[in-house]
Parts: sequence; C-alpha cells; structure tokens
Amino acid sequence: MSKKVLNILLAKPRGFCAGVERAIEIVERALKKYGAPVYVRHEIVHNKYVVEDLRRKGAVFVDEVTDVPVGAIAIFSAHGVAEKVENDAKLRDLEVIDATCPLVRKVHKEAQKHEEKGREIILIGHEGHPEVEGTSGRVKSRVILVQSVDDVAKIKVQDPEKLSYVTQTTLSVDDTRNIINDLKERFPMIEGPDLRDICYATQNRQDAVRKLAQEVDVILVIGSHNSSNSNRLRDLGEEIGKPSYLINGGEDIESSWFDGKTKIGITAGASAPEILLEKVLERLEEIADITVKTQDTGLNENVKFKLPEELAEAV
Ligand code: SF4
Repeated sequence: MSKKVLNILLAKPRGFCAGVERAIEIVERALKKYGAPVYVRHEIVHNKYVVEDLRRKGAVFVDEVTDVPVGAIAIFSAHGVAEKVENDAKLRDLEVIDATCPLVRKVHKEAQKHEEKGREIILIGHEGHPEVEGTSGRVKSRVILVQSVDDVAKIKVQDPEKLSYVTQTTLSVDDTRNIINDLKERFPMIEGPDLRDICYATQNRQDAVRKLAQEVDVILVIGSHNSSNSNRLRDLGEEIGKPSYLINGGEDIESSWFDGKTKIGITAGASAPEILLEKVLERLEEIADITVKTQDTGLNENVKFKLPEELAEAV
C-alpha cells in the first residue's frame, strides 16, 4: 500500500517568545557563572523538555523557596512571584535572580498602581496558575479572580465606582474581550488596560493559528499540558472547527488523526522549543510522505528582553 501524503503548514510565528528565551538563558548563564546546582522555583517555563534539559545541566527545580538551602542561588520563573516569596527568599539569605518576564512585571505594576489609588482589583485569569498567584500576591488587598463571563455576573464588589482590572498575559484574546465587555457593562466606571495585558506573543500566535485553521484539516499544537498559552492555541483551533491536538512531541501523535486528511497545520506554544518541531516532523515522516511549508502571512518577531545585570557578562 502506498504511503499517505500529508502537506504540512507551519504557523508563523510559533514557539519561543522573548520572555521564555530570556528565562532559559538566565538559568544557563547562572549555571555557567555559579556552577551547579542553581535552584529554580517552579518550572522556569511550562515545558517538560526545557525543564528536563536544564535539570540535566544542573538546575534543581523546587516548589517553594523554603526548599532551597540557606544562602544558595535561587531563580524565580518567568511567571513571576508574589511579594511573600521574595520576603521568604530574603529570610533564607538566598541570592535571587529574577527571571519574571518583563511583561508580567508590567501587570504587577499596573495592579499596584490601581491599589495605590484605592481601587479594588479584578484579575482575569485561571485559578492556580503561577502567574495569577504572583500577580495576586503583588498587592496587599484582596484580588477578585474572574475566570469566565459567567463569573462576571456573580462577583460582589465593595464600590463599583472604584474598580479596576488586570489580566493574565497568556489568555485567549477572544475570551478576554468578552469578559472585559461584560465587566464594562456591569461596572461602567471600571478602569483597565483593554487588551494590552495579553502579551504580543500570545496575540501573534493566536492570530497565526486563526489563519492556519482556514487552510488545514487538523492542527497540532506542540506544548506541555500545563502551558496556558498552548492550551489556548488548541482551544482556538477547536473553536474554528478543526480537530486540534496538544502534544508534547512526536511520541504523542496517532496516525489515525490523519485518516482522510491531507493538510496538517503545526504550531508551538511560547514555551516549546523548535527541536520538538523537528521531532514531530520526523514522526510524521514515518507515517506519511510529507511536504513542509511555512505560513507566508506571518509576522517576524524581533522582541528581545534585557538580561539581569549580574548575568549580562556571564557567557
Ligand atoms: S508568553 Fe508573553 S508574558 Fe509570557 S513569558 Fe512569553 S512574552 Fe512573557
């Protein structure tokens, strides 16, 4: 029987964003400068391959700074941390290197500014996500978490005239827009950043998948199951009506997904390295004869974030 033929269309942009590149580089440079082990609070970025690779090089991943030996080097992940985590690190005399993405830090600052003005804060995000915990822990007062449009009708606020919102950076652009519209309808005096908290990388990857979905039969999203932005890419493909699968790598692919299909779109979440795409293509070559093209409509991203000073020279 002849092999099936699959035409692969790669999303552009896809994969690593500037915040993830910076966070990984911080761990690698810290390992070179200080030697192993360096301790990393939480997965530095939500990707299994990246975490395993850094673990092999000498990074030790911990849940809390209380798990780090007194006086050791501790790196905070790209998702950001609550103020309490910084204080706990000081109490343990840890030498902290902060890999919080500058765009997440911007949201922290917004939340703090709203609090200084005496406004109550609504955070649009997913319960339990480390970014949500970090942002909530950057203000002293209670933060009201809104996860869906249904939540908007249920929340109770102290003063509807003194209300602000901020959002997690990696949500679905469409879901967030709907939540914000409902919030504005219920609380006309609410202040917030419109969609600007959704970061450029989230927005660009979602825009690319929206176009990709028009052209293919099936979508593969390379990313870990705990990666918020990767999940949103998969959801988006499904919403547009294309079967969409979130995969760690080539090993997760089932050939039956492509029965009766010829055009496969592939993207990768902001924390998924390009090497995983190579492995996915190798796996697809076992299943079919493939041709590979990249979307020609996609944006070129050239965002780069500065490294912390103490690591700028460590190569
Ligand atoms: S997805 Fe956006 S906010 Fe998150 S690390 Fe990347 S650039 Fe920063």
